[in-house]
Amino acid sequence: MRKPIVAGNWKMNTSLEEARALAGELRSTLSAYSTVERVLIPPFPWIVPLADILDGSDIVLGAQDCAVEDQGAFTGEVSARMLAPLCRYIIVGHSERRHIIGETDEVVAAKLRAVLRNGARPILCVGELLEERERGEARAVVERQLQSAFADVEAADVLRTVIAYEPVWAIGTGRAATPEDAREMANWIREVLARHVGAEAANEIRVQYGGSVNADNAAGFLSLPEIDGALVGGASLKADQFTQIVERAA
Ligand code: 13P
Repeated sequence: MRKPIVAGNWKMNTSLEEARALAGELRSTLSAYSTVERVLIPPFPWIVPLADILDGSDIVLGAQDCAVEDQGAFTGEVSARMLAPLCRYIIVGHSERRHIIGETDEVVAAKLRAVLRNGARPILCVGELLEERERGEARAVVERQLQSAFADVEAADVLRTVIAYEPVWAIGTGRAATPEDAREMANWIREVLARHVGAEAANEIRVQYGGSVNADNAAGFLSLPEIDGALVGGASLKADQFTQIVERAA
């Protein structure tokens, strides 16, 4: 059985006071949904204060990114080694990092390995650009991203990874993919991963959908047996919206 996982990626949003208030509210509203893994992914500096606020609850923290290296002279970087004691999950390969910051498949693969060797669990984001979808290349792009990330990664570590299918054209645009698009890609993701780990193990890997998920459209994705949760951006900054999305996954 794959436990659903709903994660809120706050991106570069919230003041410290807003972050504290949001986490405090979610601590109480989300407590009823223990059948869903609930993850808050705030900006780096809010991780420590939020760990205090969530202490004793079963809501866990994640980080939005990490360095390739574990420590050393890398000014401004934050390593998976530093994050792992506080964060169960670390996002790697988010499209905003691939396409705005310019991270390559090789960098994403190195970050994935950094997360795994430090004992946290990666949320690996994959997804195609609009022009790639229009050219009929969506599956090939996702296949390339998966193969690059998991080359040389052992099967047990592949199984510790959550895959977030986030088509780039659906992120922050209000234009979500259709549930059918998400279902097709989730099946394709498991097909590609089956080559690494075998079909039975690939069936254990959790696949989330992300991209303009909100309280109104969440049920369409979360009711599909192929989709094991959501990676939520904008709607995760509103306690009532995010709580309703978690409720749809329960
Ligand atoms: P939105 O939900 O704001 O489209 O963002 C999705 C996302 O990028 C989550 O990682």
